[in-house]
Amino acid sequence: MTHPNKSHDIPHQGHHAGRIDKLIQEFEHDPYHPAAKPPEPAQCPVCGAVFHEGRWQWIEAPQGAHRVKCPACRRVRDHLPAGYLTLAGPFVAQHRDEVMHVVHHHAQRERAEHPMDRIMTIEPQKDGLLITFTEAHLARGTGEAVHHAFQGKLEFHYVEEDPALRVTWRR
Ligand SMILES: [Zn+2]
Repeated sequence: MTHPNKSHDIPHQGHHAGRIDKLIQEFEHDPYHPAAKPPEPAQCPVCGAVFHEGRWQWIEAPQGAHRVKCPACRRVRDHLPAGYLTLAGPFVAQHRDEVMHVVHHHAQRERAEHPMDRIMTIEPQKDGLLITFTEAHLARGTGEAVHHAFQGKLEFHYVEEDPALRVTWRR
């Protein structure tokens, strides 16, 4: 005998399953994503930042805080910047201290407010300096601060297959 339910439609799973796969891929692609929230309260054993009320803060660690390495310290450990700022051109060579003063001033102010916003490395390049950051928006904001202080030309771009933001300032 035929089963009475055999004519039931097979659920259309294809589209839905594809969406979930994409979300998983996106999540795995960025293990530093803020959605990967640690248990609360948590303290980073490297920098001391405390995860409290859904965000990382520079506060005293509550008793019994979990030890969880923060996303910024993980990026430093993995040498995986979220943003790059290249400062290039003759003006950079001639006014390096003034330019770097603006860079550090901006970055320190942001770090004080947002513990995950940090400069990772500063490396000399053939035509200037390369600065790497733990957050893309800090690379952008620092580039904008330099642009605001010294004019010149500011550009943003992405490289294929890499979620990190590339910012170039030239003068
Ligand atoms: Zn940390």
